[in-house]
Parts: sequence; structure tokens; C-alpha cells
Amino acid sequence: MNFIKMKGSSIITILVAVLIAGVLLIPLRSKLITVGMFMGLVNACFNLVQMMSWQLSYVMQQLANNNEYLKDLSAFSMLEEAEGANDLPAGDIGRDSLDSIEFRDVRFKYPGTVRYVLDGCSFRLDRSKHYAFVGINGAGKTTITKLLTGLYPDFEGEILINGRSIKEYSQSRLKALFSVVYQDFAKYYITLRDNIFLGNINGVDDKRIAEAIEEIDLSETLARLEKGLDTPLGKILEGGTDISGGEWQRVAIARTLVSNAPLHILDEPTAALDPVAESKVYELFGRISKGRMTVFITHRLGAAKLADEILVLKDGKIAEVGSHDDLMARGGIYAEMFEAQRSWYA
Ligand code: ADP
Repeated sequence: MNFIKMKGSSIITILVAVLIAGVLLIPLRSKLITVGMFMGLVNACFNLVQMMSWQLSYVMQQLANNNEYLKDLSAFSMLEEAEGANDLPAGDIGRDSLDSIEFRDVRFKYPGTVRYVLDGCSFRLDRSKHYAFVGINGAGKTTITKLLTGLYPDFEGEILINGRSIKEYSQSRLKALFSVVYQDFAKYYITLRDNIFLGNINGVDDKRIAEAIEEIDLSETLARLEKGLDTPLGKILEGGTDISGGEWQRVAIARTLVSNAPLHILDEPTAALDPVAESKVYELFGRISKGRMTVFITHRLGAAKLADEILVLKDGKIAEVGSHDDLMARGGIYAEMFEAQRSWYA
């Protein structure tokens, strides 16, 4: 439509030019102007009109772009506001406040779709253990974290946290319970300190930030930054320094480290790394998070091996549960996937 409008504007300018030439024919016929003058005037008109048409199509294009932006903005402003969406996480609730998480026969399809992504999904997670959810891309691993963090309240079956339905928990309490690093983790173009501080806005001091930097191996990066923790990351702010993709990943993970949430979830923030490098990050994270419930989500099994318990997701259900050794001995889906991926880690 916008294309037609733009083309329409060029046609109109051509028509105007032809019209002017037509009008100038009258004084030419009655010899009020010479042929040379006529040609000069027509030429000048065409040039003028051509210049205007360039401008006009540029303006039309800008208008068309703004129109599209406005459509997005109005669609966004029409969205319903979820209750408690702007609430800050409840204060420090301590890592002991999470005993168990249980999914009982959960069925879920995304709004406006017909396929059940989770279809009779049941499992139980207990305090202080490390879990890995594995399964092929699209199996529904991220969907589990979305349900757990309260993003989609419309599911069938039951989700229990410490034996109580998730529906009884306020948004601020849920936010305090979970700290998640997603695959498309955010890169904030603010100072390194603030980037990590965002992981625990209820309070984290420079000492804890320094520890997190040390733990996640960002010390060398920090040493390179001209103003240390006060250096803006990215190239947007003045004096900003860009860091590599792997360093951004570590910054995102450092945010989770300073969080006091009792459950830390890594949802493939390392997908851009090669499988061996990914395993190293997960191993580091597992070591730092000792004594805290953690969930690793990955479709690459080298990282899963480190978990106390592995849950294999297939067709919307948990198909297998057990340690790496249990599942290998069982010779099922996990063992098959592991064999298929073995060469990645050779
Ligand atoms: P995984 O994390 O295992 O790769 P996901 O949980 O991201 O899988 O996705 C499971 C399925 O749900 C996929 O088929 C995906 O296309 C679909 N899906 C994910 N998010 C949405 C959404 N917002 N709306 C509709 N379908 C979605």
C-alpha cells in the first residue's frame, strides 16, 4: 500500500510537469516566447519537479515508516496490563525459602494456538539439587520456565511451589524466587556496575559485585576497562567500551550470581558458544551455585551430564528422569541423543 502511495506521488509530479509544458505551448504558439525560451523553461520545470519528487518520495517513505512504528506502538499500548507486572521483586527471601517445585499433569498451549506444547507434563524438583532439562529444540523446555515464572497463568493441571499452587503467589514473590538468564539475554548499554546491580536491585554492594566478577572470570575484562566498574558497556554512551559476545554472556550470568533468588535458571544463554565452551560455563556456574537449586536448560548433553538429575522432555511430557549414568544404562532417548552428540565433545 505504502509502495503504491510512493509510486503515486512520482506519477503526480510527472503529470504536473507535463501540464506545465502544455500550458507553455500557448505563449509559444502565439510567438510570445521563442522556442529556445520554451525549451529552457520546460527543462527548468522538469528539473524542479524531479527534485521535488525525490524529496516527496523521501518524505512519503518517512511517513510510511512512522506509520508502521505507530501501528506497533498502538498495538502495544492496547495490551492489557497484567496485575503486578511492574512490582519489584519481594525483598530478600533467602535461598532456604524454596523446598520443592512440582508440575502435576500440566497441559499448556500458547494463546491463539491449538497445539499443546506441554501435554501431561509432571515432575518434581527438590531443594539444593542441580537439574537439567534436555530435549530437542522446540520440545517445550523454555515454556516450562515461562510457566514457572508466572508469565502464562492459563494452563491446565497444577504447578505447586512448596506444595502451594503457583496461583496463590504474587508476581513480586515469584520474581524473588527465580532468577533466569534466557538465550536472548539483555545487553544493557550502561556501566558494568549497573549491569550487574540489576540482578539484585534490593541491594548489592561493590564487594559482592567484585566477587561475582571474579567467580565468572570477568577480572581480565574489568582490568581492560578504562574506568573499571564505571565504564559504560557498548558504544552508545560516551566513553563506552564494547565487549565480546562471550563477555556479555558472563555479565548476564554475573547478574544471576548476585541475585539472592533461591532458584537460578540458565536457559541456553550459551547457545552461541561451541558445545565444549558451553559445558565449561555450565560447570563453572554449577560450582558457584553449590547448595542452591539450579536448572540448566540445554539441547546439548555435555552440560546436562553435570546435573544431579536430568529430565528429558519429549512430546510435551517428561519421558525419562535420572542421573547421566542411570539414563545411559537405560539405553533410551537420552542415551541415543548422547551417542549422536558424542563427537561434539571428542
Ligand atoms: P525449547 O525451549 O525446548 O526449544 P520452547 O519452549 O521455546 O522450546 O517452544 C516449544 C514450542 O512452543 C515450539 O514449537 C514453539 O514454536 C512454540 N512457542 C514458543 N513460544 C511461543 C509463543 N509465544 N507463541 C506460540 N508458540 C510458541
